[in-house]
Amino acid sequence: NGGANDAKNIRIKLVLLGDSGVGKSCIVLRFVRGQFDPTSKVTIGASFLSQTIALQDSVTVKFEIWDTAGQERYAALAPLYYRGAAVAVVVYDITSAESFAKAQYWVKELQKRGSSGIIMALVGNKADLQEKREVSAKDGMEYAEKNGMFFIETSAKTADNINHLFEEIAKRLPRSPS
Ligand code: GDP
Ligand code: MG
Repeated sequence: NGGANDAKNIRIKLVLLGDSGVGKSCIVLRFVRGQFDPTSKVTIGASFLSQTIALQDSVTVKFEIWDTAGQERYAALAPLYYRGAAVAVVVYDITSAESFAKAQYWVKELQKRGSSGIIMALVGNKADLQEKREVSAKDGMEYAEKNGMFFIETSAKTADNINHLFEEIAKRLPRSPS
């Protein structure tokens, strides 16, 4: 199921999906390297990074992160990345209603073709751009709730809620009994 878990060391395959430009690569870079690069390059195909976090009771979670490209011409490749993933993070940009619609497409796709029991998170990124907001937090939250997803708004630019996102995912992972 994308995770080789013992009680203390959990390894988990996580895939990021969402429209091009919503900030997927910046979220990963912020989480893994603590950096924000405003000139970040467009992702070609997909890229891979990993990061380990420590939870309480000396439990560690190693995220193996597949950051996909959002462009249509790579859509056919997406199943290669989300198949076998234990966690899918679907990202939209709070300043783009269109990206929110695209996020809903990805959620349906995951429900149809993702691993059974896949943990899904819905992330509204660019929360620092409040004055340009097109998607209310309420709409994001209601959609997530309806679909059994964890919901959070983040900013890769200010780092707001980025670590929190991955910690909340880590807490929701199935554990083998210790
Ligand atoms: P991706 O195509 O989803 O991987 O998007 P990128 O991570 O490449 O980001 C696309 C653009 O959005 C870049 O110009 C980033 O600088 C910008 N960006 C990403 N995250 C944020 C954010 O949280 N706030 C703001 N203001 N800009 C962001
Ligand atoms: Mg990218």
